[in-house]
Amino acid sequence: MQIFKFGGASVKNASGVKNLSKIIKEYGPKELLIVVSAMGKTTNALEDLTKSFFNGNEDMHEIFDKIKNYHFDIIDELFENNERQTVHDEVANAFVEIDWILEDEPHEDYDFVYDQIVSIGELVSTKIVAHYLNTQQPTKWIDARSFIQTDNTYREGKVDWDLSSNLIKNELSGVLKGSIIVTQGFIGSTSENFTTTLGREGSDYSAAIFAYSLDAERMTIWKDVPGVLNADPKWFDETQKLDQLSYLDAIELAYYGATVIHPKTIKPLQNKQIPLYVQSFIKPEESGTVISNESAKNIIPSFIFKVKQVLISISPTDFSFIVEENLSDIFELFHDHGVKINTMHNSAISFSVSVDFDERKTPALIDSLKKTFKVRYNDNLELITIRHYNQATIDRVLVDKDILLEVRSRHTIQMVVKDLSK
Ligand code: ASP
Ligand code: MG
Repeated sequence: MQIFKFGGASVKNASGVKNLSKIIKEYGPKELLIVVSAMGKTTNALEDLTKSFFNGNEDMHEIFDKIKNYHFDIIDELFENNERQTVHDEVANAFVEIDWILEDEPHEDYDFVYDQIVSIGELVSTKIVAHYLNTQQPTKWIDARSFIQTDNTYREGKVDWDLSSNLIKNELSGVLKGSIIVTQGFIGSTSENFTTTLGREGSDYSAAIFAYSLDAERMTIWKDVPGVLNADPKWFDETQKLDQLSYLDAIELAYYGATVIHPKTIKPLQNKQIPLYVQSFIKPEESGTVISNESAKNIIPSFIFKVKQVLISISPTDFSFIVEENLSDIFELFHDHGVKINTMHNSAISFSVSVDFDERKTPALIDSLKKTFKVRYNDNLELITIRHYNQATIDRVLVDKDILLEVRSRHTIQMVVKDLSK
């Protein structure tokens, strides 16, 4: 059995859904579970809707109508007559869940409300895709929330592996014999049946959970790029496809922020030695990237670029050394505010970290750090990571940049820089 995962870009319109169906016909094995994300930029739009709801903005209904009409237009293009009505009704029913939320005053827990609203994107996309596939071959729509069980860390649900894995194994193996399965990425459920999400771009991780639990022969992520590239084409003109990557290299790249695969995806696949293929849904016949135990034959430097970085320097107020005790207090505060550290450096009297700027979390974290420490920070910075670096690659990325912090190990260099051309 195999797992296919299709991201938002692959199902951004009706022809995307038709293309997905063609890929399944040509490349899908008999036993197949398909994980699908929300269509196009729907997750962003639902995030905007949640923000607007919390801020009491007037554009709330306008944003929501746009999201609904976008899906209804796709349905109109894909289906006819009765079928069209059925899919339309099912999708409309899913959207009603959001209507109910919007009618009330915003619940105090932003992250909880976020998950109840944003998860609908995956529910509606999979209903549309499953109905469409079912017109071609027997297809079953499955609610991932009945299988992916998490704690109640909303927006970052921690998966209960044993429980989820057993549910998947026991209940889905049989279903796969008779039909292909379509389910959602990104979403799960608490023991009290509230919806959680697994973190942005979490669908890859969902797919890996299903792959692990069903002992898949392989998992394929279908993307709008030819495979894993050594840099994001958004930032770099010249990129190279990596034909082969070891699990270790993939996990390192994802950890440093390469957006191609969700960081949590690799571990479950590595644990069961399931190879991960990253392939183009535009050119499905091309070979893409294989991630497995085997290391690449020739090492190609990879570049990871993160913008909107804040460099925070923390020191004791009395010029004393930074010691383990300070560090554990500092780490605890980062953990409490849900702020991830992208890179860090320690000196005698200060501890510096680079984090993603977040309009809610960053100021709150800095305020609580200031209660005990002296805190300085610089924002609007960039974090450049080069894996398998050499001097030429460093020189290439440092044109017009001023380095504020540099951390080097044998294979990886990280630099927090200011763009002087801005
Ligand atoms: N739809 C979610 C997101 O855009 C999950 C995913 O696509 O993996 O973050
Ligand atoms: Mg996506």
